[in-house]
Formats: sequence, C-alpha cells, structure tokens
Amino acid sequence: MRPSSEILTAARRDLSNLVAIPSVSARGEGLETCAQSVEKLLSSAGFKTEQHAGDVGPFVVGEIGDGPFTLIIYNHYDVQPEEPIDLWTAKPFDLVERDGRLYGRGAADDKGEFVSRLAGWRAFRAEHTKPLPYKIIWIVEGEEEIGSPSLNRFLEKRFPNTRADLCWWEFGEVDKTGRPIILMGFKGILAVELQCQTARADLHSSLGAIFDNPLWRLAAAVSSLRDASGRILIEGFYDDVFVPDARSSRLAAWPPFALEDLQEETGGRKLLSGIDGSTFYEHLNFEPCLNVNGFHGGYGGEGAKTVLPCCGTAKLDFRLAPGQEPVKIAELLRRHLDHNGFDDIGLTILDAEVLGVRSSPSHPIVELGANLLEKWFDRPAIIQPSSAASGLAHPFVHKFGATLFGAGLTHHGAMLHSPDENILVEHFENMIGFSAEFFEALCDHSAVHSEGIMDA
Ligand SMILES: [Zn+2]
Repeated sequence: MRPSSEILTAARRDLSNLVAIPSVSARGEGLETCAQSVEKLLSSAGFKTEQHAGDVGPFVVGEIGDGPFTLIIYNHYDVQPEEPIDLWTAKPFDLVERDGRLYGRGAADDKGEFVSRLAGWRAFRAEHTKPLPYKIIWIVEGEEEIGSPSLNRFLEKRFPNTRADLCWWEFGEVDKTGRPIILMGFKGILAVELQCQTARADLHSSLGAIFDNPLWRLAAAVSSLRDASGRILIEGFYDDVFVPDARSSRLAAWPPFALEDLQEETGGRKLLSGIDGSTFYEHLNFEPCLNVNGFHGGYGGEGAKTVLPCCGTAKLDFRLAPGQEPVKIAELLRRHLDHNGFDDIGLTILDAEVLGVRSSPSHPIVELGANLLEKWFDRPAIIQPSSAASGLAHPFVHKFGATLFGAGLTHHGAMLHSPDENILVEHFENMIGFSAEFFEALCDHSAVHSEGIMDA
C-alpha cells in the first residue's frame, strides 16, 4: 500500500504546522494551542476525541473501532526548549528540508512520529472504509518532556478498567545502517541526592587533623555502593530483578552492532571490568547500573584554597531492571548507609516514578511488525529486549496489560533535544507506509483473535 502523493503532501503540511507551534512544556508554552491542533487532526481522521487537563498541558484522546483487540498508541506533542538557538542552522520552529532531511524542533520527538502514524492511518482508511474491527485508543500528552507528571494519574482516572493488547510506544529507532529497531522495554530510574554536613561553616584545613571531612565521607559512602565491575553492593538490590525470558536472552546474546562502534561514536573509553564485545549488549539490555552524576562541595575554583568544607552533596542515579521498585531500592540504600557507618548522610529521593518494563518479543504482533518494518525499510529489523534508557511505560504495561511495541523513525543522528533535530524524509515516508499496512494487518490479526475467543 504505497501512500499516495496527496497523503505524503498532507503529512508534510501537518508536521510543518505542528512544528510551528512552540509547545515547550518546560516553559508551559503553546500547549493548549498544540493540543487543539492534535485533536483536530485526530477528529478529522475519524477519531472520537476528547481533551483532559493535565498538570501542565492537556491530554488528547482519540478513539475508534471496536473488537476484541485493543491497540493503544502513545505520543506526545510537547517538545524540549529550542536553546541554544544560535546553534540551529535555520529557525527551530520552521520545518525546513535540507539534503533529504526535515529539520525543526519536534521533527522527530515526537511530532514526526505522531504525524507519520496518522498519515499511515489516513492511507489505510482511504482504502478500508468498513468499521474498524479492533479498538484504537490514541493518547497524546503534553508533558512528556518534563517527565509526564500527571500521565499515571490521568490513565487511572480516565481508563480505570481498560485492558489493551499492544502499546505502540511514542518512538522507535533506526540505526545508522538503516535497520529499524523494535524496542520491547525500558529501564526504571531512581535518582537521589546524598548530603553530608560535618560543621557549621567551612573550617581551616589544618583542623583536618581532628575533624572528618564531608567530601571524604561522601566519597567513602559512594565507593561502598558498587564494585569495579559495576555490580551494586547494596544488600537485597538484585532480589526482585526479573530474569529475562529465553527469547529475550537469545536476542541480547547477539549484539546488532560492535562495542568498538559504540566506543568510537560516544568517545567512551573506560569499560567496567568484565565488559567486552560479547557481554556489553546484554548489560545494556538487562543490567541495572549506578551512576554518580556529580559531587559538589568545597572549593573548585582556580588555584588552591586549603579549606575543610562543612558540607557536600552527591547526586546518583540508578537505572533499574524490571521488577525493581524505585522506592524500595531507596529504602535498601538507606539501610546500606546506616549499616555501614554512614547514618549521618542524608538521602533525598529526587525521582522514583519510573519502573522498568520488558515485554515478550514472542508476541505475534511483534513478529508481524518486524516483517512489515523489514519490508518498508528494506533492512532486517532488530528486536531489542530493552532500551538501556528509561521511559514511563509501566502504566501501559502493568495497568493495561499491553505488550510494548516501540517502532518509529528516530534515526541515529536525529539530534533529539539538541539544535538541528531532524528526521530523514525517506524514513518519514517509510513509516507512513509501514503504519498504513500495520493498521491493516491488525484487522486480520483481530479477526483471528476473535475466532480464537469464540472457539474458547
Ligand atoms: Zn524527548
């Protein structure tokens, strides 16, 4: 089903109109206007739409169809701030084409993803006008870039008993060789701050002969948390980690790219002990990790200042595996500090909202999606058990019971959140074609699904 030139032109126009709205959630700007436009696009495509207030920006919901199979599509219309503006080649909120790419804030994240799916939907509906034999719930939020503060609450309230089969995640990736990647999971996150104060005010460093130093204490506390291989030494830390299923383990055992490439690309030089070309991909997919984000305190200016600082802080983040509850991990961390002589170190939770999830790659729709992606991108699709990063997918996976399905057009050099954010025109059009056929294929799947239910 090759999308017609009218469909492609309309998609380009829609994307350009959405990019032109500076819907920056960090500034609370343009969100109502953008929600309005998104709602209009959905309703003119046949969806029954509604809007609900969020903490910062409204939620837009579009629904259509009925049947035993439910597809949730999740996108967001808010974007990251455009700064620094002088590093953009053209104006950030003007969608411009250069060398086969479309540039603009939100071109990829997430307006391009949203528009490509919607254009695919239109192409599908241009040929299939019968009532849709499955249900689509399309949720487009305006607070993703500030951590989706009200998404969970909104879903609980608006969809108290809804179940769903699949959640088409807000984005998917295309690697640098053009292979589409289907993401099946995300890690959770716990971010904390440790504080230590050992005196009323900074002291003369000669007093270091008798008084302890808050930065020494923080350094010792932090070093007690992890070994050189990255293994976290907090008692009970790994107790709830879900063991990957056999298929996910097999997928992670065959890295789709080389460790050297990743090193080359990121400039990352120092590997954890035990990490090599055969283990790194499993670790990226499955292993929790602990990062020190920053140490602060004392004197960091030019030259020497011999001082015994009175206080210091360290910020840490844990990327958690599915099964690990961020709040429980924070409690274990507190206990670890208390049991190891650091009961004077304060602990503040900064973020404990995101739980890790990982769906089964054996779901039949995942295979169906992979085949269609291969066709449209003309490259083998990669099914990745989990992103190494985090995403707020657990409400969809836990509450709705949906299998996560992250397929999209975010390419390797998309410059998300940065100046010159862009997508490839080719990927945009591939994704429109993929979406059209995916919506169509779900009709057949849904028919099989309903027969199955009737047999039972
Ligand atoms: Zn983003």
